[in-house]
Amino acid sequence: MDKLQDLDQKGFTIVEYIWIGGTGLDIRSKCKTVKGAVTDIKQLSEWNYDGSSTGQAPTENSEVLIRPVALFDDPFRGKPNKFALCETYHVDGKPTNTNYRHYARKIFDKGVDQFEPHFGVEQEYFMMKSIGGGNNLSWPLGWPIGGFPRAQFQYYCGNGASNSYGRNLMDAHYKACLNAGVQIYGTNAEVAPGQWEFQVGTCKGIDLGDHHWMARFLLQRCGEYFDIDVEFSPKPIKGDWNGTGCHCNYSNKLTMRPGGLEDVLKQVKKLDENHSTSIKLYGKTNSERLTGLHETSSMNKFSFGVANRGASVRIPRTTEADGCGYYEDRRPAGDIDPYIVTASIFSITCLDNYGLEELVHHYEHGKELEKQELIQELEENFKRGYVRKNSGGVAKKDSF
Ligand code: MN
Ligand code: MN
Ligand code: MN
Repeated sequence: MDKLQDLDQKGFTIVEYIWIGGTGLDIRSKCKTVKGAVTDIKQLSEWNYDGSSTGQAPTENSEVLIRPVALFDDPFRGKPNKFALCETYHVDGKPTNTNYRHYARKIFDKGVDQFEPHFGVEQEYFMMKSIGGGNNLSWPLGWPIGGFPRAQFQYYCGNGASNSYGRNLMDAHYKACLNAGVQIYGTNAEVAPGQWEFQVGTCKGIDLGDHHWMARFLLQRCGEYFDIDVEFSPKPIKGDWNGTGCHCNYSNKLTMRPGGLEDVLKQVKKLDENHSTSIKLYGKTNSERLTGLHETSSMNKFSFGVANRGASVRIPRTTEADGCGYYEDRRPAGDIDPYIVTASIFSITCLDNYGLEELVHHYEHGKELEKQELIQELEENFKRGYVRKNSGGVAKKDSF
C-alpha cells in the first residue's frame, strides 16, 4: 500500500466528500476525481448520495444533496488530495434531520463579528475492540474480555503497558489532524482504561464544529488501521467507570476585555436561566452521565464555581485572577453535535436566544421530516456493536 502513496495522479485530485448521516453520529463519505489542484472550497460542486441508505430519504425519492463547506488535506492519500466537509439538504432545499450546521450558521452570522465567540472542546471517547460473536460486539480496549480491569486510578495521563491502552491510535490520530489542518491542541489519557481525550480549538464561530467533526472522522479512519472502534456515548459502561463528556470552553469579546469577569458572571446567569433548554440539547442519554459523581454535576440543578469540576460551569482560576478570560461548560455529553452546543451557548449568552427556538425545534422534530422507522433501525444497528448492559462487578455471559 505504501508503494501506491507516491504514484503520479496525472494532474487529478481525489476529493472525499464527508457528511453526517441519519443518526447524527454516523459519518459518511465518498470520493470523486477532480481535474487539477483544489485550493478553494468554491471549486467543488454540489453532489448527492442515496439518502435511503442513511435513514434520510425514502427509496422512491432517495437523493440527498451534499454541499461542500470546509476543505482539509487528506493525510491518508497525501498531497494533493482533499477532504471536503459537507452540509446535507433535501432536494426541496430543506436541511436534513442532522444538518444542525444550517441552524448554527444562522446564529453565528447574526453576531460573530460583533462578539467574536471562540471555542475549544475536549472530546472524550472510548476505544473499543471487537470481541466477535454473532452480533460482532465490542468491549473497551485493554479490558479483559467479559470482565473488568483494576479500579480506576492509574490510567488518567498514565504510562506503562498495564496503565495505557491504545496510544498508537491516539498518536496516529494526533498527527493525522495536524497534517489535515485540523486545529487539534492536545490529547490525554482519561480516567477509565481505554478512554482518551483530544482537544479541538481555539476556533471562532462555526469553525469549531467543522474542525471537531473532522477530528472525529479522522479518529474513525485511523481506527481502521488498528481495528479499533470509537465510542462517544456518555456512559458506555455502567457502574463505577467514568462517563464520556465533551466540555466546551468559551470566550467572547465581552469576557476577554479588561474587567470581563463581570460579563462572565452575567453570561453564566443566562446559562443558568436556560439550563433546561441546554440540557435538552446536550445529549439524549446524558442523564446516565450527569449524576453528580465522577467529576460531573447534577443534571437537574445548574451550578457554577471557580475551579469546581463538580459544577455545570467552571470558571478557571486564571479567569478569576486576570479578571477576564474564558469559562467552561462541563455539561455536554461525548456524543453531542458541536454545532448545536457552540451555537446555543453563543445564542444564550450574547444574542438573547436568537435562533435558539428554531435549533431546538429541529433537534426535537427534525427526525419527523425523515423516514422515522428507517432512522430507528439505523440507530439500533449502529449501537448493536457495543455491550451496554453490564452494571459493574462481573460481566454476565448473556450480555454478549
Ligand atoms: Mn480535559
Ligand atoms: Mn477529560
Ligand atoms: Mn474540561
